[in-house]
Amino acid sequence: MFKRGLADVGKSLPKSASNRTFDFWLNYEEMADIIFLDSYENVPFDVVHPLFFDKTQHLVACGKAAGDDCPICDYLDSLPKDATDKPYRREMAFFSVLDLRPYEKEDGTVIPVTKKLLKASKQTVGSIQQEMNMSSIEELYGTLWKVGRGKNAMPKPAAVGNSFRYLRSADLDRLVEQTGDESLVMPVAIEELDKMIIRDPETAMQTFQSFLESKGESQARKATGFSATKLNI
Ligand SMILES: [Zn+2]
Repeated sequence: MFKRGLADVGKSLPKSASNRTFDFWLNYEEMADIIFLDSYENVPFDVVHPLFFDKTQHLVACGKAAGDDCPICDYLDSLPKDATDKPYRREMAFFSVLDLRPYEKEDGTVIPVTKKLLKASKQTVGSIQQEMNMSSIEELYGTLWKVGRGKNAMPKPAAVGNSFRYLRSADLDRLVEQTGDESLVMPVAIEELDKMIIRDPETAMQTFQSFLESKGESQARKATGFSATKLNI
């Protein structure tokens, strides 16, 4: 359904708040030490459709996962079965982590540690769980890990890394003492996470459709970020 009035154009979708908490990601062949801030039992996850429009990837909650209709799932079903560049829906876990790579601000100040969100697919969650089993650790909160992103792995290594190695448990009390910032070791609040997810798939799909029409459909499908490689073997 159309809305009316130029003054409200651009206001119908909730603003993505992803600029409030940085996403954790690595360059190819880069490694980082991270500390997990969620307890194993409390890692938030949701079923989302990553859709690209307004020059940003938006995470839209899947309607079907909430027991409603989902125009985005319907759109996916309408695509040919063998389409290799289909947008997708995925279960995504939102880990709060401390990134221990020092970061230099424009004024020269060095920030030794930054809280970030590691948005993990089921596959990445599997890698983390596997390493927990191998290292016989049951609790994730406060553990220090080495994460790396390969270059030539298949499937293409996720931007959040494809190798997860448990190092040891970290001294978070000491970190709080050193930084004087107690909130640093708390996971990102669920209210904050909620602002990053668009809960109105109907409106999001309308915006995405306009994007498809303006860009040409195949290009738009690519812009959803899906990069499956179809092997002809
Ligand atoms: Zn859906």
